[in-house]
Amino acid sequence: MSAFQELNVYQPTRQTYVVLPLRFTGLNDRQYVVTNLAGEFLTIERATLQSFLRHELPNSDQAYIDLRAQHFLVDDSTAIAPELLALKIRTRYRRLSQFTALHLFVVTLRCEHSCPYCQVSRQSEDRVAFDMPDSVARAALDFCFRSPSPDLKIEFQGGEPLLNFELIKTIVGEAKERNRAAGKRLAFVIATNLALMSREILDFCRAHDILISTSLDGPKALHNANRPRPGGDSYERTIAGIRLVRDQLGRDRVSALMTTTESSLDCVGEIIDEYLAQGFGEIFLRPLSPYGFAIRTKAYRAYSADRWLDFYKKGLDYIIELNRQGVPFLEVYAATILKKMFTSDDPGYVDLTNPAGIGIGAVAYNYDGDVYASDESRMLAEMGDTTFRLGHVLKQSYEDIFGAPQLLEPLDASFAQSVPMCTDCAFEPYCGADPVFHHKTFGDFVGRKPESEFCSRNMTIFRFLIERMQSDVFVKRLFRQWATR
Ligand code: SF4
Repeated sequence: MSAFQELNVYQPTRQTYVVLPLRFTGLNDRQYVVTNLAGEFLTIERATLQSFLRHELPNSDQAYIDLRAQHFLVDDSTAIAPELLALKIRTRYRRLSQFTALHLFVVTLRCEHSCPYCQVSRQSEDRVAFDMPDSVARAALDFCFRSPSPDLKIEFQGGEPLLNFELIKTIVGEAKERNRAAGKRLAFVIATNLALMSREILDFCRAHDILISTSLDGPKALHNANRPRPGGDSYERTIAGIRLVRDQLGRDRVSALMTTTESSLDCVGEIIDEYLAQGFGEIFLRPLSPYGFAIRTKAYRAYSADRWLDFYKKGLDYIIELNRQGVPFLEVYAATILKKMFTSDDPGYVDLTNPAGIGIGAVAYNYDGDVYASDESRMLAEMGDTTFRLGHVLKQSYEDIFGAPQLLEPLDASFAQSVPMCTDCAFEPYCGADPVFHHKTFGDFVGRKPESEFCSRNMTIFRFLIERMQSDVFVKRLFRQWATR
């Protein structure tokens, strides 16, 4: 007789694990993506998932070990898992308690460019009537400093904000003065096409640590075609401006954003090459938004979501190959999603937050004193739709504006965890609730997700990122680096 009993005597006779809240969505014919409330994810074979959900998965199975490690189940050895999960969820949502950190000041609607896809209505250069008055700027600053957020970022927008540089100077000086008592971490950004950049402006930016954000759509011909201005030299001025800013303020003090027009669709490689040639380490491949002039000129409908997705995938693959060859370069939208996939940090990108980012992630003070729930909301208002106008800085109080039904109702209605389809979608922790986009395209704050370009675009990108990581160890490593940059 043996001193020990047979091994099977020591195996559990029944499965004793508890399945924690999770969602699953098909990745391909064989596999599912499973996520939990904290956004942790696994890809899992269909049969394994079935076995797991029937409480039949043996605890010796590698999938069991992975599911336990990522808080998809609790058993006798993991009693602490619900607390860990709760901690991660609290970390993920902690930005909500800080409320609005980003305050957009539209200091003028005037602009000397006439971009056909411009998302705000621009006026000719001599229309001083479209500048923000001092009284409005000071009242908007009152709102800014009421925000409970320890961080305040004031971003100057237009039109072309440098056409009202005097007001920028006033707002920066006043904000710094108020901040002596408030003690916030205060930052400033000017979003400019750089055509009017000068030494005087740069001296001021250096003295006050102001960042510059500009637009670069790609190589010269594409950029100039997209962004007409008198003289047809938008590209030349932008490039000269970028060099000047770097020279005077430092290399990292200027960033660039691009917009994808129909002409961009066949040249994603050239656009990325242009960013590399200009010394940028990243690009944000963005589709056109359905607001402002993009709609009026029908530019928005000039290409379908599928064509944009082809453009995006080609671009991302090109960037991956650059990295494989030793050229570090990053795509910002992918990096934002990957941060949500691999960390408990929510980068707070307005389009990819739930509850929606309107009013919480950003607020826009228009030149005339109207307050909008986001930059897109005020673009919509320029088209005559004031659904997301929260009030006026000179007429309403902080409480009236941030408690306005125009803000609370869309936030409530679009909350993804109670929206049809999103509530069951494994990608929800990475996605967002974009009530402004859905209001514009469907006429309500939720939209019909099976027909929503927002939904199909994001779902395709989530799947694409996961599949690329699954099939290529290099990509998995690279994407983890992007997530934690
Ligand atoms: S919008 Fe689409 S991809 Fe995003 S959570 Fe909802 S169903 Fe999922």
